[in-house]
Amino acid sequence: MSQTAERAPLNWPAVLILLTTPLAALILIPWYAIHHDYSVAAWVSFVLFLAWNGLGITAGYHRLWAHRTYDASWPVRFMLMLGGTMAIQNSILFWSSGHRTHHRHVDHVDLDPYSAKRGFWFSHMGWMLRNYPSGNPDFRNAPDLQKDPMVMFQHNYYIPMILVTNLGFPALVGWAVGDFWGVMLLAGLLRLVASHHFTFFINSLAHMFGKQPYTDENTARDNFWLALVTWGEGYHNFHHIFQYDYRNGVKWWQFDPTKWLILGLSKVGLTSNLKRVPEFTIKKAEVSMKFKRAEQELAVYGHDVREDAQMLRERISKEYDAFTQTLNEWAALKEKAIEMKKAEFAQKLHEVDERMKLEYRLVEQRMQAHSMQMETILQNLRQRIARRTA
Ligand SMILES: [Zn+2]
Ligand SMILES: [Zn+2]
Repeated sequence: MSQTAERAPLNWPAVLILLTTPLAALILIPWYAIHHDYSVAAWVSFVLFLAWNGLGITAGYHRLWAHRTYDASWPVRFMLMLGGTMAIQNSILFWSSGHRTHHRHVDHVDLDPYSAKRGFWFSHMGWMLRNYPSGNPDFRNAPDLQKDPMVMFQHNYYIPMILVTNLGFPALVGWAVGDFWGVMLLAGLLRLVASHHFTFFINSLAHMFGKQPYTDENTARDNFWLALVTWGEGYHNFHHIFQYDYRNGVKWWQFDPTKWLILGLSKVGLTSNLKRVPEFTIKKAEVSMKFKRAEQELAVYGHDVREDAQMLRERISKEYDAFTQTLNEWAALKEKAIEMKKAEFAQKLHEVDERMKLEYRLVEQRMQAHSMQMETILQNLRQRIARRTA
């Protein structure tokens, strides 16, 4: 029997924190606003703490520790660790281990700790409120983190650390700016609730609403609106197929402040070894997805455009052959590059390099052409269907 049908025991610490903080915020924050006024300093500290917590989770817990998409210097790791601790989402070790399981068994009803297949509520926060077997940590998937002294320090002193960061930091700021209760309520309480639910949206909404440009093998979606409140983590479809890329919004114009922060820090030497999936591999996934979608649409609507269906099918298959050929050419080029490196024509290497670069660029251009061709074919198909049904 699936564990969804069972009643797992309540996880009391999580229940207390996750249910009392929103309730308290709902009552206390408007009540205080009526009787007193929040200072500008309280609002500013709310925004700054929210950003610190958010980036601690996205750049720290997620992209640095769970996925190891880049390396960071000690001061950066320390600041991300503190911000992430303040967000109260369990320790780096616990969070990252669970997240690795989420990627490995994504959508599996019994193995994915926050499987979207178990509904919005479960994937948003229900999974934390009870001790489900799927949520049991198995640190065997995180030997690297168990060897990291900073990660283990945080894990071992987690409770005092969340108290210091959540009560001590706002209290200190509140006292310094002369608005103790205002800062406690906004930068302490409201910040925690907002930071919680913005992160939880990634497990719930980013597996429900949005586009799937790279893969439809799992429920993860790309969603710009979620990226806005999650420091760029809304591009979850890309992230689930290429989890080792430090970018989630991979296109330069996509809103991904976490990516900008990591890249920015690398320019001043504070982060390094930023991992990127090759442009061609990304394009390949995108074009493959377009082919798949065209086939699916043809299968569903083909009978509506009977006389054109055959022609469309032929165009798609011709395009697909060309696409496969481009992929083969790419593979051959790669092989050649590796062989050349082995042979080490020291003096000729530069010259050869330039020629290879040119060839790569040509193959990439062809890939771009395939992508655009498929877009046109799909648009044609949709227009025809629209005309039929009009
Ligand atoms: Zn996910
Ligand atoms: Zn991830």
